[in-house]
Amino acid sequence: LKVRIDVVSIFPEYLAALDLSLIGKARREGLLELAVHDLRDSTHDRHRTVDDTPYGGGAGMVMKPQPWSEALTNIRSQSPAPRPLLVVPSPAGAVFTQAMAYELAEKEHLVFACGRYEGIDERVLEWAAEHFEVRPVSLGDYVLNGGEVAVMAMVEAVGRLVPGVVGNPESLIEESHSDGLLEYPVYTKPAAWDGRDVPEVLLSGNHARIARWRRDEQLRRTAARRPDLISDLAIDDLDPADLGV
Ligand code: SAM
Repeated sequence: LKVRIDVVSIFPEYLAALDLSLIGKARREGLLELAVHDLRDSTHDRHRTVDDTPYGGGAGMVMKPQPWSEALTNIRSQSPAPRPLLVVPSPAGAVFTQAMAYELAEKEHLVFACGRYEGIDERVLEWAAEHFEVRPVSLGDYVLNGGEVAVMAMVEAVGRLVPGVVGNPESLIEESHSDGLLEYPVYTKPAAWDGRDVPEVLLSGNHARIARWRRDEQLRRTAARRPDLISDLAIDDLDPADLGV
């Protein structure tokens, strides 16, 4: 199972960090096929123009439709998928989550369109819906200068779910957001450091007690830091022991 990813940007160098670490290794091993395209290669004027002033007035510039349709048509024509998923990073999209990362990791072909300035002419999204499954996605409720950082985050979150990318698949099961809770705190040697001891239960060798302690810490931490996640829990997600019964 291999995932193919194409990214279109006016700053292709931004994505160079995806050559490093686990994602870079996955690319070299052929688990992930990732290509970055310069949007300006799809322009035909001397200045390689990708933006123009907004209709209706206002500050900033808007990305012109023609370079986008040309770049995306080229990618579409090489796609192994009948209908690739086009992810359009946007602060006005649905917020990216671990559940969405799992969903994207199942796709054969992902295409990311990095906006800049005030974003891409809306007609590009309408046009693209005829050739792609189009999904505006936000990294969170704040505004970045461009889609590149959002795409790096999404590619990393999706890429590590592709089988073989993370050495020990068990590390994907016990982590924040995999069971609706934040992860428990972790410790390593030495057992005493700076006058602070590792919680005694972790040295006990009693697996049932350790599991219970970790689960309690997950619940405590989630309630303190992310009460919204607690209220999203279904009663069936809870263990009778979580409720102290
Ligand atoms: N005027 C736009 C708005 O208010 O919705 C913001 C444009 S922003 C300055 C330029 C580009 O950065 C966007 O087109 C998008 O690609 C990217 N971007 C900004 N914030 C983002 C976020 N939270 N998630 C994903 N992409 C984002």
